[in-house]
Amino acid sequence: MSGKYDVVIIGSGPGGLSAAILAVNSGKQCLIIEKGAHTMQGIIDTYPKGKKVYPTIPKSYTDPFPVLEVKPSDDKVPVEAYVEQIRNMSLERDLPIRHNEEFLGLEGEYPDYLVKTDKGTYLSHHVILAFGSNIPNDLGIYGEAKTVARNIENPQDYIGINVLVIGGGNAAADVVASLSKIKREAEDDSTSVFWAHIKEKFEINTDTARDLGEEILLGGHIKILQRAVPKIGEVDEDGVDRLYIHQTTTAGMGNDLYMYQGMSFPMKNVIACIGTHGPSAIFDGLDLQQITCTGAICKIAKEGERLLMLNRHLETNKKGIYAIGGAISPSYMEIAQEGVIREKKHSNLIYTAVVDAQIVIDHILEE
Ligand SMILES: Cc1cc2nc3c(=O)[nH]c(=O)nc-3n(C[C@H](O)[C@H](O)[C@H](O)COP(=O)(O)OP(=O)(O)OC[C@H]3O[C@@H](n4cnc5c(N)ncnc54)[C@H](O)[C@@H]3O)c2cc1C
Repeated sequence: MSGKYDVVIIGSGPGGLSAAILAVNSGKQCLIIEKGAHTMQGIIDTYPKGKKVYPTIPKSYTDPFPVLEVKPSDDKVPVEAYVEQIRNMSLERDLPIRHNEEFLGLEGEYPDYLVKTDKGTYLSHHVILAFGSNIPNDLGIYGEAKTVARNIENPQDYIGINVLVIGGGNAAADVVASLSKIKREAEDDSTSVFWAHIKEKFEINTDTARDLGEEILLGGHIKILQRAVPKIGEVDEDGVDRLYIHQTTTAGMGNDLYMYQGMSFPMKNVIACIGTHGPSAIFDGLDLQQITCTGAICKIAKEGERLLMLNRHLETNKKGIYAIGGAISPSYMEIAQEGVIREKKHSNLIYTAVVDAQIVIDHILEE
């Protein structure tokens, strides 16, 4: 652990980067923790290839983009160009980003928070949670598989390995196509990408289907497993964690009997691409106060959903810990000055993440 930061920011999306730019401009010591290999990993993981990025400003806001460095061009450029623009900007400004490092939790109290990651611990006065809204779902099976939102880092690590990708949507299809391509282009790789979906029908859009079809026609080693259910995580006799996935071969055989055929993969060769969930469980883990919605108090969130409580500075119930951007969209519970709590709409847009960053850094600077 080295020195003390004024602010540690979790996530290098538009919100986290804007907070860092504003903090650095004001002479504050800051650090960004990013679990992905790239700046803007959240956007890289979730936008379809070539998607145009819009600099949308919600109607209820009147101010222009407060941090122009992260504003998408008015020409609505494809996501690849936007990510490149931001990457160059962050390199030119030498923004302090630690890539491939995952935030795990917090200890301590204001003003001495210990930010725990999988690589170390950082002492900080303030913490900004800017980790977006797309947390990959776990399989929920013993010996957890790797989970990804959309893109697979280091596909070359899977050369020479039979790999199982689980999931029936565009994200899984993209992962399958990229793994197949890297295997096909490698010399002497006769292993396959097994693509399993719990249902009969895969749900992918036309562009993704075209890319995948092209990959298959070019000789990709893709084996499709329909109606395949990831069933048991087990440790084999060599001590290797494995996943058993089965397909029904014979429906009911009478007397409650079923016959299955299945395959077993080492967990380290399994990639689950089964959607994402919001950050509520992470807020729970950090002991941040949330309120469960009822029809009477929530118009945007559904009954039973839990919303983070924030004051007008986007500060949580723990002093010095803030949450911004996608992590608090599409709504949060705002504690109005007079102590009244109300659901506050918060569009999941680049603009709102940037405005949030300004609100938080202004508050930190006021102290
Ligand atoms: C398909 C799609 C299209 C969109 N198009 C537009 C558009 O055209 N215009 C627009 O304004 N908005 C658009 N949006 C919304 C916009 O992308 C989001 O509002 C914005 O990215 C939110 O920024 P953020 O910084 O809060 O979070 P994100 O951009 O999600 O960034 C969060 C970062 O935190 C990292 N992270 C997550 N967990 C951890 C952890 N535990 N440790 C360390 N790092 C972590 C992630 O890897 C990620 O890089 C779109 C969204 C989607 C899904």
